[in-house]
Amino acid sequence: MKYLFAPNTLSESSEVYALKIILDTEEIPCSIRNEYLAIALGELSPQDCIPALWVLNDADYPRACEVMEAWRSSPAETNSQWVCPDCGETIEGQFSSCWKCGKQQKEA
Ligand SMILES: [Zn+2]
Repeated sequence: MKYLFAPNTLSESSEVYALKIILDTEEIPCSIRNEYLAIALGELSPQDCIPALWVLNDADYPRACEVMEAWRSSPAETNSQWVCPDCGETIEGQFSSCWKCGKQQKEA
């Protein structure tokens, strides 16, 4: 079993599940584990419990990496987060303009 991917923040956890679906489609066996669960017991807040994606068979790992790279370099989905170029605020993908300064995500 090999570690493949974990998001930087808990709010990006959905990426782990999105990637798992893609790997499932590619018939690469994988599982989602909470890496920090052991340390988290009593020690850390839920924010530190970020799920991580693991490839079950080491032999599948190179292919899983390729799939992940393709997935990460593909155009952002409409509901993915974006960062306001003006004020640097992180905006949820369902909003097309910055809630803080009002700048449009993409200038026409
Ligand atoms: Zn802004």
